[in-house]
Amino acid sequence: MPVQIIDGKSIAESLRAEINNQVAERTANGLRIPGLATIQVGEDPASQVYVRSKHRACEDVGMKSFGFNLPADTPLKKLESLIGELNLDKNVHGILVQLPLPKSLDEEKVLSSIALEKDVDGFHPVNIGRLAQKGREPYAVPCTPAGVIYLLRTIMPSLEGKHAVVLGRSNIVGMPVALLLLRENATVTICHSKTSNLSSVVHEADILVAAIGRPEMVRGDWIKPGAVVIDVGINRIEDITRKRGYRLVGDVAFEEVCDFASAITPVPGGVGPMTIAMLLQNTLTAAERLDH
Ligand code: NAP
Repeated sequence: MPVQIIDGKSIAESLRAEINNQVAERTANGLRIPGLATIQVGEDPASQVYVRSKHRACEDVGMKSFGFNLPADTPLKKLESLIGELNLDKNVHGILVQLPLPKSLDEEKVLSSIALEKDVDGFHPVNIGRLAQKGREPYAVPCTPAGVIYLLRTIMPSLEGKHAVVLGRSNIVGMPVALLLLRENATVTICHSKTSNLSSVVHEADILVAAIGRPEMVRGDWIKPGAVVIDVGINRIEDITRKRGYRLVGDVAFEEVCDFASAITPVPGGVGPMTIAMLLQNTLTAAERLDH
């Protein structure tokens, strides 16, 4: 059977079109336009690009966005006070603090000051705690992990009983992906930099989610024939044939893995486009909960 390429770009486009319709319907019914506030502290160029693309995405689906860019030496109290104001602002349904924050700011304290129901990144410690507990529901689920599950669900009606191996245990990707897979009743193994015999653990996977930030580390012969592979990694490698001198690759050696997997996400065009689509979805859901 030829490998199925999971087209995250077009799946994300369809989701955005659906969100656009729902925003238009809300507005026609006289409800507030969903609003997303972003806060960036400092001038990190990559963060600036991400924040700009989030604003553009809001505009494209008819949502409002409010951008706050604070200097890198902003004290915690000042940042908490801005978040406090946004928590009370009825035009703001989602608040996103762009990470990473400057080292001088305590990330956990900052994320904890966001109102739970406006935490559209799903990183508030209480939302993550609820995600980890049986019978509890977070207000929102982190966007990239939610995108991973969304993509899996487009090709697998049920993840129940499947052995899912997650490479990486970061707060923003690996750990929440693993928690979401557990909620889908998969049997989950989490691997990290201290895991022994990584290739043989990966070889047991029906579903592999790679989120390690190591270019093309997962090789074809690591993959169990027929496994579904979701590659979250986004890595730059030098490529003198490209005008910009580099190209993007995932954590998985794509061509090799295609010979073994039944389905795989490409990089770029796989998980990446889903992240912003899920942020828009979380903002719309927050607006529906806050004003209805
Ligand atoms: P991170 O915070 O650096 O975490 C990397 C994880 O991989 C850690 O848990 C680390 O283990 C593990 N790891 C590193 N080297 C390893 C190795 N050789 N073998 C096994 N495990 C190893 O990275 P992240 O923020 O989760 O991001 C991971 C990748 O996803 C990056 O390429 C990033 O650019 C990409 N990403 C993509 C999106 C998207 O929208 N598509 C969003 C976020 C991130 P330890 O815990 O032991 O250190």
